Amino acid sequence: MRGTVPVRCTSRVTEILSDRPTSLVRMTTTALPTYEDAVSRYEPVIGLETHVELGTATKMFCGCRTDFGAEPNTQVCPVCLGLPGALPVANRAGIEATIRIGLALNCDIAEWCRMARKNYFYPDMPKNFQTSQYDEPLCVDGYVDVEVDGKQYRIGIERVHLEEDTGKSLHVGGATGRIHGATESLVDYNRAGIPLVEIVTKPVPGLGALAPEVAKAYVAELRDIIRSLGVSDVRMEQGSLRCDVNTSLNKPGEEWGTRTETKNVNSLRSVERAVRSEIIRQTSLLDVGTRIFQETRHFQETTGDTRSGRSKETATDYRYFPEPDLVPIAPDKAWVAELKAALPEKPSSKRARLREDWGISATDMESVANAGAVELIEETIAAGASPAGARKWWMGELARRANETGVELAAVGATPAQVAALQKLVDEGKLNDKLARQVLEGVVEGEGDPAAVMAARGLGVVSDTGALTKAVDEAIAANPDIAAKVRDGKVAAAGALVGAVMKTTRGQADAKTVRDLILERLGAS
Ligand code: ADP
Ligand code: MG
Ligand code: ZN
Repeated sequence: MRGTVPVRCTSRVTEILSDRPTSLVRMTTTALPTYEDAVSRYEPVIGLETHVELGTATKMFCGCRTDFGAEPNTQVCPVCLGLPGALPVANRAGIEATIRIGLALNCDIAEWCRMARKNYFYPDMPKNFQTSQYDEPLCVDGYVDVEVDGKQYRIGIERVHLEEDTGKSLHVGGATGRIHGATESLVDYNRAGIPLVEIVTKPVPGLGALAPEVAKAYVAELRDIIRSLGVSDVRMEQGSLRCDVNTSLNKPGEEWGTRTETKNVNSLRSVERAVRSEIIRQTSLLDVGTRIFQETRHFQETTGDTRSGRSKETATDYRYFPEPDLVPIAPDKAWVAELKAALPEKPSSKRARLREDWGISATDMESVANAGAVELIEETIAAGASPAGARKWWMGELARRANETGVELAAVGATPAQVAALQKLVDEGKLNDKLARQVLEGVVEGEGDPAAVMAARGLGVVSDTGALTKAVDEAIAANPDIAAKVRDGKVAAAGALVGAVMKTTRGQADAKTVRDLILERLGAS
């Protein structure tokens, strides 16, 4: 905020807003342009900063454990609490994971680099500085290729650097969980000092209307690459993958505009929505000649738009300097070469291979990848389902549900093993499609495995002929004209009788058994 806005009163947000031209305030109430209109007149440039929490057993600069969900402030020590005299020691596993990420993103690995102190005060940061990297990142100058609508886009990687996570603040006593209205604020330092890797892209121009989709595809690809390395569980909903989305607009032929940085983007879908809504919002401002402020904005999950946060600090505000308590990092060349040789199959190559195995089109594979379903389907097949069966559930019912509830597919509530078990029940004729969907609903609601849900909800195909004969006889008695046709050899007419039986058995009858019974009763088989 310093340098752009004079410091006057206590609330930063009010102050920033009150210093803006009144047209900005007015603009928010006038009609917004459509997205198509916006991208027909302005060219977006995007840039993504992604934080990945590494899954190391211990923290980056001390031996504290990193278990998720532990009692607050039980995984802390003098080093990660920043107590006087405590000295950090780097965790080799954190450095190794960062180098592997860099290599997987086609980066050059520095032969010598240092950590830096990034100074700022915030209650969740006990040391009053973050141990990070500044002008000497561990990995630089890479790229990631992503595919959207069958076309490849290369996203340049500026740098991949290592830093540490902060603690977590908890504001209690208020309705919203935010600091406003809270009676107390609590801090949990368990997360402070967990290794974080920050991956920063170069600015990406030239995407036009596809900018939001490419941004999403990039984060998905990055997630898949990092997951394949096994260095993080990269769960956006749990915060182990966090993304800040930078967006700017310029008129064709003009210089790039001022960017805004949107934080709190907690799902792949939100990455896309955040870019899209920023393009619309910035267009509405530029259209009336209002300049864009470089600021941090917060993505609103409920509305899909962004709200102003703080104005952006500049590097000088952080007073970076080389960390004097840690030795420089000088990775041995032979070690780096070893790590490079041992990288796993690239997710994009893996997708090409699985596409062959599953016998699906490139477009279908792309939807599978975009839905984050590659591994889920792969694991479902490994658990015994056919490729078509596995894909059907993840890309059908479960994808629809994930979409509706706004969660990632992996967090939708069904496991690959459960989906495979469900498909097996269908293959064995114990469930038909309709019933299977109801069973899946129970699984997702947390009622247990498919067999348990089937039993508890009393779902299951009735193919026991004794139980069905009564329903068949009733259907025949109620539809004498149709029955007569079937008796006369018009077998196709039996369909209506099957339908009637399905109706009285609330869909639980096995259609084939019913049909056989009808034909038998009417002497047409
Ligand atoms: P900071 O820490 O200040 O956010 P970084 O260098 O970490 O700065 O990240 C800046 C991000 O913004 C990068 O991903 C970069 O590519 C992107 N960026 C830079 N200029 C623009 C621009 N004009 N429009 C959109 N994105 C931009
Ligand atoms: Mg940054
Ligand atoms: Zn510690």
